[in-house]
Amino acid sequence: MAVDDEPAVLAAVARDLRRGFGESYRILRADSGAKALELLTELRTRGDQVAMLIADQRMPGMPGTEYLVQARTIVPDAKRVLLTAYADTEAAIAAINEVALDYYLLKPWDPPEEQLFPVVEDLLTTWEAGAALEAGGLRIIGHRFSKDSHDLRDFLARNRVPVRWLDVERDGEARELLRVAGVEADRLPVALLEDGSVLERPTILELAERLGVAGQPAQDHYDLVIVGGGPAGLAAAVYGASEGLRTVMVEREAPGGQAGQSSMIENYLGFPAGLTGSDLARRATDQARRLGAELLTVKDVVGLRAEGAGRFVELGDGGTLSANCVLVASGVSYRQLDAPGFAELTGAGIYYGAALTEARSCAEQHVVVIGGANSAGQAAVHFAGYATRVTMLVRGTSLERSMSHYLIEQLSALANVTVRTESSAVAAEGEDGHLRRLHVRGPDGEEVVDADACFVFIGASPRTDWLEGVVARDERGFILAGPDVRDDGWPLKRDPFLLETNVPGVFVAGDVRARSIKRVASAVGEGSMAVSLVHQYLVDA
Ligand SMILES: Cc1cc2nc3c(=O)[nH]c(=O)nc-3n(C[C@H](O)[C@H](O)[C@H](O)COP(=O)(O)OP(=O)(O)OC[C@H]3O[C@@H](n4cnc5c(N)ncnc54)[C@H](O)[C@@H]3O)c2cc1C
Repeated sequence: MAVDDEPAVLAAVARDLRRGFGESYRILRADSGAKALELLTELRTRGDQVAMLIADQRMPGMPGTEYLVQARTIVPDAKRVLLTAYADTEAAIAAINEVALDYYLLKPWDPPEEQLFPVVEDLLTTWEAGAALEAGGLRIIGHRFSKDSHDLRDFLARNRVPVRWLDVERDGEARELLRVAGVEADRLPVALLEDGSVLERPTILELAERLGVAGQPAQDHYDLVIVGGGPAGLAAAVYGASEGLRTVMVEREAPGGQAGQSSMIENYLGFPAGLTGSDLARRATDQARRLGAELLTVKDVVGLRAEGAGRFVELGDGGTLSANCVLVASGVSYRQLDAPGFAELTGAGIYYGAALTEARSCAEQHVVVIGGANSAGQAAVHFAGYATRVTMLVRGTSLERSMSHYLIEQLSALANVTVRTESSAVAAEGEDGHLRRLHVRGPDGEEVVDADACFVFIGASPRTDWLEGVVARDERGFILAGPDVRDDGWPLKRDPFLLETNVPGVFVAGDVRARSIKRVASAVGEGSMAVSLVHQYLVDA
């Protein structure tokens, strides 16, 4: 929907949009923010989906940014674009935070083929990817507060499998479907597949196999096997395949890694309006596949063997991948909170990481976020858009030392977020199998706080036990490389390459490397750099 009070500009936007996208989308226009809001409410009531809002910043009565803020409450998933004159660029940049703007477009946008269509196309592709996820033929029926249901939904969302989620308590259709399928209530969660088959209490692996998510290796031997599909692994897959290496990436859960859980990455170069982790993962996965990399998901790597010049990666399902080189990019995993009640209620109100699939069910709820680093800050900002109240429990005396300035600013501008410093959760209590209360210890003693959901971000550690006795690690399990392995049993005359481990031809990149910088950009940088070192290794070998 385009909104502009200047008839000529409005007509031009609508004309160009119709020319570029009129075949697949209806283009609506309004000549003021107020009229556009009315129209959006009508569309919403009718159940129509709204993909994109384009508004001029300079409109008397209601500027574009104010309209977009209000429109967001009606159609939160629509992409938001602000039309600005060059002189308004600063206002547009400020609006990125205020409105969660997806793009600002400078007037005039001539020629539209270069200035308008690529931007709109990209935003619509992203929107479609999200909309498709909710319109799939696959249906999962379960209890909202069941760990098994949560795990299945999380897995499907992270692997971008379109699915409709039906809550057996709230949804009459769910109960009717169960009756028709003849499934007893104690056999949930249930997956109803597009071909009509019914899987009662499926494991993630069973479901992945039935949906064809997992896949099998296509070759007997690879130049490069990458372990882990976070930003480091995906970057290596893109560079490896694009430079002609036979490349396969093996990922235990879903491509994207930790970054895939980020609700909004704002500091990644080239994305001034930020991008969600799932969007980054989707783009990188498409890119790696298009360039010819094989991606094997839902496959766990459980061992590594070096025999002569051969490197062998052992998979949890009993298979083995043979390679000239291996890149370990297995990142880090969330540390669990060790306090009474937390283990029992995990997946039933307590979640590790952002668990973005839960956001919508946080409406009218009190959400507690534990942690004081950027990941916790991002989650608090994200959930504040859904929950009535968000409380952050931060162990330190302030956020300044642990969180980026831009996030602290965003948090302080949110009226429904409270930051409690010097505070930690010491126990969790549930009712009917779901979290109800947290015991919080703060500077003034201990108190019991009602909580509907709690998201925990208290750091992470590498899971590198599978490399025990093969690859050198530091005392915390992070993998040593380059200068750190040169003097300790390095077997060759040449020095190890910068990202090479103590086993020649086995490289490491990203968060799992000892003393790495824990950032998306550095993981991507190391993943790409590792490929160039692999080339050097192959030339030398
Ligand atoms: C919620 C959140 C928000 C964040 N926000 C930002 C941000 O805004 N900006 C920023 O720069 N950084 C951010 N970070 C940090 C950033 O995401 C990480 O630094 C980055 O993802 C590290 O990439 P990686 O590829 O090294 O590892 P990971 O992202 O940890 O990926 C490793 C992958 O390896 C897989 N794996 C592990 N072991 C195995 C195995 N044995 N077999 C097969 N697969 C395996 C895992 O399943 C995982 O997918 C955030 C982190 C989190 C958790």
